[in-house]
Amino acid sequence: MAEKRDYYEVLGVSRDASDAEIKKAYRKLSKKYHPDINKDEGAEVKFKEVSEAYEVLSDSQKRAAYDQYGHAANDPNFGGGFGGGFGGGSYGGAGFGFEDIFEQFFGGSGASRQSPNAPTRGSDLQYRVTLTFEEAIFGKETTIKYNRNEECHTCHGSGAKPGTSPVTCSKCHGSGAVQVEQNTPFGRVMTQRTCDVCSGTGQEIKEKCQTCHGAGIEAKEHSVKVTVPAGVETDQQIRLSGQGEAGQNGGPYGDLYVVFRVQPSEEYERDGTEIYYELPISFVQAALGDEITVPTVHGKVKLKVPGGTQTGTSFRLKGKGAPSLRGNFTGDQHVKVTVKTPTKLSEKERELFQSLAEESGQTVRANNEGGFFDKMRDMFDK
Ligand SMILES: [Zn+2]
Ligand SMILES: [Zn+2]
Repeated sequence: MAEKRDYYEVLGVSRDASDAEIKKAYRKLSKKYHPDINKDEGAEVKFKEVSEAYEVLSDSQKRAAYDQYGHAANDPNFGGGFGGGFGGGSYGGAGFGFEDIFEQFFGGSGASRQSPNAPTRGSDLQYRVTLTFEEAIFGKETTIKYNRNEECHTCHGSGAKPGTSPVTCSKCHGSGAVQVEQNTPFGRVMTQRTCDVCSGTGQEIKEKCQTCHGAGIEAKEHSVKVTVPAGVETDQQIRLSGQGEAGQNGGPYGDLYVVFRVQPSEEYERDGTEIYYELPISFVQAALGDEITVPTVHGKVKLKVPGGTQTGTSFRLKGKGAPSLRGNFTGDQHVKVTVKTPTKLSEKERELFQSLAEESGQTVRANNEGGFFDKMRDMFDK
């Protein structure tokens, strides 16, 4: 679609023309281009153009709106998409200024936006550390390595080649923004855009640093010492201040979050500071009692199992658990006894059990093993 001509231009009058002058010009031109009179090609188009211009400029409200916003003010094609305020050429033009509309329409870009020169803090990073069951309980010192963006060591973040400095941007003169003429539904307006030469920094780097190519940051392998706190558990984390990514425009580094994952143990279960251990004992040990060596994360410990211990009984080994993260106490190890029924008996053992059954007044028909052991288990479980 061809660019719409200015209504004043169409009528051949000045912008401050009186109503009478506009009417006179319209009469003259409408006669000249009237399709009934003028059979020239394009006359009809010209006639419509003149009529439209007159329709707007002869109406004081429409003319005022046109003066302020151009064709968009009276164009019925616009309006719906912008809240309907400009529909149908009925825009009044009173009550609010251009700035208000501009801000609404463009979402307030420009002045209200944060300055691109403002120092911004770098991003936080996360690093996962897997610990063995024991490492989580006792803690340890470790060094972790990861890649992060650091301030360029060559230019110290300026982005300029050593010996040179960034200069005030030649295009935006340091403001970081440039005025751009833009076509909008309201006509041509000047709008602010981020300067394309300096990307909004207001500074132009004539000779870029060869290490970072002007970015001021470089990806680097970074290592940091981590003290794993004793008693840590899966998904707990520590924050290491300033160990994240480099900031921009001199902003501080972000933080590093070290998240722990604790591997399970084949021997122990852990719940906070408490450790659980299952101890299988024979039913002879259960019946007669015994002193049994039990493993703990703190080393082997002797546990006295009294005679007549039932399966499922739990014993507590004080202070043999995990430390609390605050370090003010250590949990216990809980030893749960499970009485194991033997699956194979020697002839001698069989005889002894038979005697045992008789001694305790039970009639045992040991003609099949399952029946015999079921009964034996019944006897010891009582
Ligand atoms: Zn550099
Ligand atoms: Zn610039």
